[in-house]
Formats: sequence, C-alpha cells, structure tokens
Amino acid sequence: MRRNVAFFGAAMFCVGCFSLYLMLESSTTSPRVMNDQDGEVDKIEWKIQEIEQELKKNHETIIRIKEMLSDLSKGDNINVDKLKNLVDQFEKSQNNKKKFIQPQENKPVLLNQTQFSKTGITLSPDTCELAEKPNPVGPNIEMLQTFATLPFSNPDGGVWKQGWDITYSPSRWTTDRPLKVFVIPHSHNDPGWIKTFDRYFQDQTRHILDNMVQKLEQHSKMTFIYAEMSFFSTWWSQQNDATKEKVKRFLNEGRLELPTAGWVMTDEANSHYSAMLDQLIEGNNWLFENVGVRPDSAWSIDPFGQSSTMAYLLKKTGFKNMLIQRVHYTIKKYLAEKSNLEFMWRQNWDLSGKTDMFCHMMPFYSYDVPHTCGPDPKICCQYDFKRLPGGKIACPWRIAPVPITDGNVAQKAETLLDQYRKKASLYKSDVVLIPLGDDFRYDKPDEWDNQYNNYQKLFDYMNAKSDWHVEAKFGTLRDYFEALANREKVKRGERPDNYPILGGDFFTYADRDDHYWSGYFTSRPFYKRMDRIVEAHLRAAEIAYSLARIADTKKSIFDSDKNMAEMLTFSRRSLALFQHHDAITGTEKDFVVVDYAMKLLKSLENTKKIIQKSTEYLMSDGNDVFTLDETRQSQDSIPEKQIIKLSSANERYVVFYNSLASNRSVIVSIWVNSPYAIVKNEFGQIIQSQCNPVWTNNEQYSTDQFKLLFVVTVGGLGMVRYSIEKAGRGENQLHSLAKIYFHSSGNNYQKIFDYQSDRSDVTLENREISIKISRNTGTLQEIKNKLDDITSQVKVEFIYYGTRGTKEKSGAYLFLPDGLAKQLSSPSVFVRSTKGPLSSEVNSFMKNVEHKIRVENAGDMKNLGVEIENIVDIRSEQNYELGMRIVTDIQNEDNEYFTDLNGFQMQKRRYFSKIPLQGNFYPMATMAYMEDKNKRFTVLTGQSLGCASLHTGWLEIMQDRRMKQDDNRGLGQGVLDNKRTPHRFRFLLEKRISSGTNAQSTGFASLTASKLSDDLIHSIFVLPAKSSINSPQIKHFVTTLNQPLNCELHAVNLRSDLKNRNNYALILHRTAPNCGFKSRGLFCTPGGGKINLGKLFSASYHLSEVKTTSLNLLWDDKPIEFNKLPVEIAPMELEVFKLTFSS
Ligand SMILES: [Zn+2]
Repeated sequence: MRRNVAFFGAAMFCVGCFSLYLMLESSTTSPRVMNDQDGEVDKIEWKIQEIEQELKKNHETIIRIKEMLSDLSKGDNINVDKLKNLVDQFEKSQNNKKKFIQPQENKPVLLNQTQFSKTGITLSPDTCELAEKPNPVGPNIEMLQTFATLPFSNPDGGVWKQGWDITYSPSRWTTDRPLKVFVIPHSHNDPGWIKTFDRYFQDQTRHILDNMVQKLEQHSKMTFIYAEMSFFSTWWSQQNDATKEKVKRFLNEGRLELPTAGWVMTDEANSHYSAMLDQLIEGNNWLFENVGVRPDSAWSIDPFGQSSTMAYLLKKTGFKNMLIQRVHYTIKKYLAEKSNLEFMWRQNWDLSGKTDMFCHMMPFYSYDVPHTCGPDPKICCQYDFKRLPGGKIACPWRIAPVPITDGNVAQKAETLLDQYRKKASLYKSDVVLIPLGDDFRYDKPDEWDNQYNNYQKLFDYMNAKSDWHVEAKFGTLRDYFEALANREKVKRGERPDNYPILGGDFFTYADRDDHYWSGYFTSRPFYKRMDRIVEAHLRAAEIAYSLARIADTKKSIFDSDKNMAEMLTFSRRSLALFQHHDAITGTEKDFVVVDYAMKLLKSLENTKKIIQKSTEYLMSDGNDVFTLDETRQSQDSIPEKQIIKLSSANERYVVFYNSLASNRSVIVSIWVNSPYAIVKNEFGQIIQSQCNPVWTNNEQYSTDQFKLLFVVTVGGLGMVRYSIEKAGRGENQLHSLAKIYFHSSGNNYQKIFDYQSDRSDVTLENREISIKISRNTGTLQEIKNKLDDITSQVKVEFIYYGTRGTKEKSGAYLFLPDGLAKQLSSPSVFVRSTKGPLSSEVNSFMKNVEHKIRVENAGDMKNLGVEIENIVDIRSEQNYELGMRIVTDIQNEDNEYFTDLNGFQMQKRRYFSKIPLQGNFYPMATMAYMEDKNKRFTVLTGQSLGCASLHTGWLEIMQDRRMKQDDNRGLGQGVLDNKRTPHRFRFLLEKRISSGTNAQSTGFASLTASKLSDDLIHSIFVLPAKSSINSPQIKHFVTTLNQPLNCELHAVNLRSDLKNRNNYALILHRTAPNCGFKSRGLFCTPGGGKINLGKLFSASYHLSEVKTTSLNLLWDDKPIEFNKLPVEIAPMELEVFKLTFSS
C-alpha cells in the first residue's frame, strides 16, 4: 500500500512538471497575432486562457487519481491497473499533445471541453467601425426611411392603376436628343414550377432555343436575351458544332445576350448568400468554359422581392448593371415620380461607395407584354403579336392585336410611341427599355415571325418620321445600358451625375392591394430546412474533397475517381437548381417539389460519400472505413440515427470533421446499444460522457438504444478520432446517466434511468446561463445570462392564423390572415425534462408541436445559447399558419428590429401599423434580433422562415402553413403536402457594454451571434468507422491548417476546379461584428481581415501561386506575393483567392 502511494505521489509530481513545462513551452511558441497594442493584450489574454485550460485539465486528472487512490485505501485493488493505465495515458497524451502543438508555429492550443473563457475578445477598431460610426456617404434614398414616410394609400391611378395619368411634352425629344427605344425579346423559363425541369425542357425550352437559332439567322435585326443556364446547358449538350458556332456568332454580333447566366434566376428571400453565389459560379463558369462569354448585365424579373445582397454579389462578380422587377407598387410609384427608377444601389454598410451597382427598376405591374410597353396594359396587349386572333391566348382587356399593315401602321405606330414616351418620361435618360416576352415565350416559329415582322414595320415607320425624334429597334439589355451610358456621358455601370444612390432592400413585395407576398417566406418549410442541410453538406464536401485532392500528390486517387467529380457536379447543380424562385420558395406543384427533393436527397447521399472518401484519404490508408451516422428513408422523412454497437472487447472509432475554419467544441450525440460507455479523445484520454434515453413514447424509453453525449474538440478544417467502448455499470466515473423528471403527468417503471415526478417549474442551467421553463405551458419564460448578470423575460408562445373569408385567400405566395393571431391552446401539455452534466433539456408535447429546449455545457460560446427545436406537424389543420411568438421585455424603440438578408447582412426593420399585418413580415434566412439600451436578444435559425415583430419586445417566427386553395398567381393549387418538419433555433441574450449609435438602417450581429450561427448551420460531421476497423487503421487527428482563421473571417468555401487538379478557389467573408457586446467562449484570435495565405495551410500543402479573382472566379487579377505579406479583407467583404498548389 505504501509503495502504491509513493508511486502516485511521483506520478502527480510528473503531472505537475508536465503541465508547467507545457505552459512554458507553449508560451515560447505562442501565436504572433498582431503588432499593435491591442494585439499584445489579446495575446496575453489568449495565453491566460491556455494556461487556465491546461490547469483545469490536469486538475481533472488529479481528481480522478485521488478518487482511485481513495478506493485503493479502502482496499479496492481493482483500480490498480487502471490507475497505472491512466498515468501512462496521461504521459502519452501529453507527449502527443506536444507533438500536436510544437511543430506548428502560430497554432493555438485547443481549449479543453470543460473550460469556458470568460475573458471577452477585443476586436480591432476597423472591425468595430462599421457598427459604430455613422455612414458619411449614406444613400440619398433609404428604403426604411422611405417606408416610414409613404402613406401606402393605394389610390386608383387610372389606366396605370398603381400610378398616375402620365403626361409629357413631345418637345422633350429633339434631333439632338431623340428617344431611343430598345425592344428586348425575352423568354422567362422557370427551371421547375407547374412542370418539372425535364418536362419544361422537353415541352418548351428546347423548342425556344432551337427556334432562337433558326430565327436569329433568318431575321437579321432580331435580338434575344435568355438567362437560365440550367436549361441552356442541357440544350447545348444536344447541339452539333454548326449550331454551337451560330450561337457564338449571335453572341459576338451582340444580337444574343445571356444576362446574369446563373444556373437559375435565384430567389432572393430564402436563399443563403453562399448558395446564391454557388449557382452564379456554376452558371457563369459553365458558360465561359463552353461558350466563351462572361455576362456583365443582370436580369431578375421574377423573384418575389429583391435583396441588396444580390446587388453586392453581382458587383463583386464584375457585373456592370442589373435590372429588377418585383418591387412593392407603392415604392415603384414613389421612385417613378422623381424619375428615380434608375439608381446606384449601395450597400447600407458601405462607407466609401465602392459597392455601388447601377440598377434599373421596371415601373409597372409585371414583366409580360401588357405591362412593359407603357402604362396602359389594354394598349400594350395589342402589341403582343402572339395574341393575334386565332392564337391560344387573348388579351383580357378584350381588344385583340391586329397585324400591322400599310393601312394601319401610321395609327398603330403613333399609339405605341405614345406608350413608349410615357414610359420614357419616368426615367432620366430618354433611352427606354421595352421587354417583349413572358414565361416560356417564343416556343413556336410563328411567334418569332409575328413579333419580328410586325415590330419591324412599326420601327421602320417610326424611325422614318423625322419629326417624331425616335429611334426604335430590337436590342439586348447590354445595348440599352450602353446607350444610356453614352447618353449620360459615363462609362457603362458608372453613376451619371443626377442619378440617386439608394440603400436598403425591396421586401416585402406587394403586387396589388394588400396582397403581400410574405407567405412564401415559410411555404414548404421542410424543404427550406433540407436546403440548408444540403448546403452545409455540399460546402463540407467541397472543402474535404479539396483538402484530400491537394494532399493527394502521388496516388492520384482523386484523379482516377471520376465518379467523385461527377457526384460533386451533380450536387452543386441540384442545390443551385433549388435556389430557383419557384423551388426554395415552396411555390411549385406538389410533384415538382418531389422532383427537386429527390435531387436534394441524392445530393445529400453524394456529399456524404465525398466527405467519407475524402476523410478516409486524410485519416487512414484504408478503403471503405466509414459507415453512415444517419440515413433518410425517403426525400420527405426525418433522418434516422444509426446505432453503433458497442462491445467491451473492442473500441469503436468515430471520426469528427469540422468544416469551419475555426476551432470548435461541440456536444455530439451518438446512438449506441449500451447505457454505459467509455469515451476517449484522440489522445486516449477518457473524457466525460452522458447517456440520455431514446424515447419510444412520452413515458417509455428504449432499453437497447441510447444517446451517448460527449464533447468533441476539433481544430479548424480538421478531423479527429474518438473511441467508444462498452463499460459496466459504475465502471466509468466520467460517465453519467441523465436523470428524468416528469413535470405534468407521467411515470416510468423501467430500471435504467432514475426518474422522479416534479410538479414545479423547471430550471436548466450551466455556469453561464440559467433559464426558466413553465411546467404548465412547457415553454421558456426567462433567460438569465449569469456572466453579464442580466435577466430577460423570454416567453415562448405558439400562435396560429387562419385565412380570411373573402374571395382572395392565402396560398403558396400570399399571406392573407383572418386577423390577429390566436393562442394555440393545448388542453394539457406533457412536460418532461432530462438533466445531465453535459446537456439538459425539456421536452414539451403540445398540439401540433413537439417543443425542445436545451442548455448545453460544451465549454465554448454555445454555453450562452439556448437551443430550441420544434418538430411541427399541422397535417390535421386546414387554412392554418403556425407561428412561434417570443415575448420579451426588450424595449426596442419605434418597434425597430433587425432581420438578415441571405445570411450576409442585417437590415433594420420597423413595424408599421399603416401596412397590413402580412406586410410586416420579412424573410429570416439565418437571424433576427431586437435590442434596447441594455441588452440584445438574438434568435438564430437553422432554416429560412418568415418573421415579424408586431409589438414592442415581440418576435414572431412562422413555422408552417397549410392552405386549401390557390392564391391566383398561376400555381393553381394550395399547399397541402405538409410534412412532419423539424426546425432548429438558438436564443442568445447579451448585455450591451457600449452604446453604439445604430443610426443607420443596417445592423451588425455580435461576434458571438455570428459564430453561433455558423455553428448552427455547419454541424460537425460524424463518421463512424465500421466495426472491423481497428486503431492502427485510423490516424488520431489531422490538421490541415497551420492556424485557424481569425475570429472575423469565415471560410465560405474551398472549391475545387474540376478541370484543373492544382486549382482551388478559397472564398472568404469578413464579418463586421458589433463590438458593443463581450465575445466570450470563442476559440479564435482576433486579427481583423489580415490573412497570411502563405502560412494558412499546414506544411504538407505546397502553395505555389495566389491570384485574387471575381466572385464568379472568372476575372482574375495578377498573382500576388502571398509569401511576403498578409492580404487584408475589408469588413463585410467577400473575397476570392485562386490558389494553385504544386504537386
Ligand atoms: Zn419565374
């Protein structure tokens, strides 16, 4: 006995020495962060954090040794061997750990799971500047302020119902300054809506494009524009060389233009900026590689509301001008009154004007022919020569077009010119843009001939009338913008002197009366959630594939495996397709949803395979190492977890892949077949674990399936191996079984987990926060942030809206509620809680919702967040819209709150009582917050949904909607294909430490909120190894980065050029956090936008060249000297670096 004690005394001495050594050692190789004073402070703070975590970790080991010693002293000798193992393990792990730290300069040590850094991170002044300084070059038309001043009265404007009776003086146009008219034939092709993509292609699109070739050849003055590359590439692949040459010739001649050339015309409300960009990259690159052109005019005529994020993406892609159409009629009229429909669209956060994008807004109701030639649809319709008598479609105004003849051309030309002139007088330049087309137009040769011949006669006549001072012809979008620039004596895309600068976005769209298109922010939420999941998988697959492909210098498995490139391409294109404005929006036919979803499901499977293969390559020498952690039975089912069968004889290995470029600590939940287990980290150290039941109903749990929870700590873009083995009851002192509490009714007679009835309200807490949950309603009541010592009422309620009784009712697009929301009342809510050291949660079962509230103890910033999950199922309801309302005591002035635009930026919103309730809803792609002088409450979402703040301190997030009827926007059906849908949210309560002016119409998330959002969207990937895999076959960990990215930077993607194996595009986004909040629990170091690309990747990656390039990867700059100096990204900006690695 004495000898044993002496042995352990020595061991503990060793432990002490080791940790001291490690501290000193890591101090000398400490990260060089920044040279300025702040940087020094940060460095010291970081060192303190490091030391703190090392001490605590060692403390844990010592506690365990003490426990075992105590057992030994009681005569329990079973622990002798274990104790020996533990000491051996510890030594080994510290040696390993040293290896992990030592060779890599600038590499911060990962924080241990149980630590939480209370020291906030200090960000650099230029990072904080955007949120703190008033904008010196703010726009002169700001949309939120405009909303505040307009009456939204909707008076009848006559023939132009939403405008006014336009008058003009013909003397406005002269010989020197004639009216220039560009009539632009176009065909809007939805890649799925009433028909599937394939059906549309077969029935219409291929004929349209076939005819295009024939008719542009035949009619030498005819022009055409066409936008959607998903269709165009399909058609192109079926053409012979002669046809392809003709198309290239038309493009060269400037008679054919492929504006935007995205894979689709992306939705701008629900889509995330990374997916919007992906679809643009996919379309633009396909076009450049196959046809050799790069678009520089953008055309967005159908998305249901327009986002300033799109303007930014286009600008940074190299576009010179853009056109938008679906904007609230009141805004159109307001801008038209002062000829401000053309403007420089500036990002609200831009302090220099460098984001300005020349934008043309169409003035009238629609992009069809009746609403594009001028203000009077009854007249314009007569100039749609597809509607000549005898055709399939007629004019609803009951005056049919007639063919233009020598006899009628004088009168017809004069009438049309009057419309052109009226339209022109809404703009400044006396160059007028007249789109001539509609959905799936020009599919018959006759239509081409009729439009061409009749219009050409009208043009010839007009142009010959010298006293009319008009030059009319067919043209493209580029022709129009070029002529405008010439007329205004600027270069295309530049701002002419008297043109306004506009800031803000164009949500929420109304096309007439109180018909606000806010329903689609939430329609088909199951697929909005699936979109985000596929997006995260695709991004993770891109990055893992790139990392493995770069590393694969010898074996070339990534070259020979064409299958992988094909799988990646398929997934890129499927997700790109889903960004279409009738896909992610949920505004397509039921069977079209299924068609998209099958593609998304296939993409999910593909990307999982790519992640597996790439991880296999990086982490092992073997093939076929991994199995799936979860599977989906079908496109509309919730994933099911795979059970890992544990044994005490063999360890099972699970690899975790972190696709974010920052270090993370994450609580994972692995489903296993034993309630008792031992979990070891990559150093072989036993770590804390928790077992939760898998419930089979409210009161009963499975006796052969269990959730094993533990904290995984993994470096940025890194992979790490943990092992799990079965343990006996009580064998592992770091393993806890959760305790169950029934708060309403409920009982359990099973033996595994302790349970008790507890008829009081529930408190869940970790060291950082504490929350209260009502046992009656089963919902959150209050959040306390213990670190900041602030408490806020955060009452969650579920509410619902019906549909109004008038003829016009809610549908897939429109939200037309029957009044204020009603409280969802459930006669009795079943409330149960499960508590443990790592994670504690409350599950509440109410009508239509299963509601989960969870507090975690991951040791990082996630300790500050409250996890919310709602599984909603409203299939038993009709004309019913379910929402989650959060009632707080935040005193947000003027009912101001903030919602994000595409996960890229925050936009200030205000509740306006002059706008109907449905017009006060906005898209919430990733985040919303409200604040007062003292605190800010942020809600993060894992899927895009509609939200509103209808009252001071309230935030309402819609969950699902079920509509019996169509809403007369062409879909021709209701929305009745609801699914059981899981939604994820995070709540964050933060205290303001500095006031921050926030005078602008933009806002900025706190650093903690933005990191929590990244973490929510990009879960850790779980790759269980097959049971046959043993330890030597998998590495303990892989680090691919020399050092993680700075706190301010986010790796949007690392995208392989599939045509050139040495080329990769690194897309980075620099966030601009609001520095008025403490950023605690973060595993990153602040460094502003500086990044040293030469030192970013670990030594095994040989970077040979770096170029900056446009966002679509097509406009390269000269190579930069990446080894000498860090590059710097400005706050809020996205930048792309083309990386070439030498093999
Ligand atoms: Zn469309």
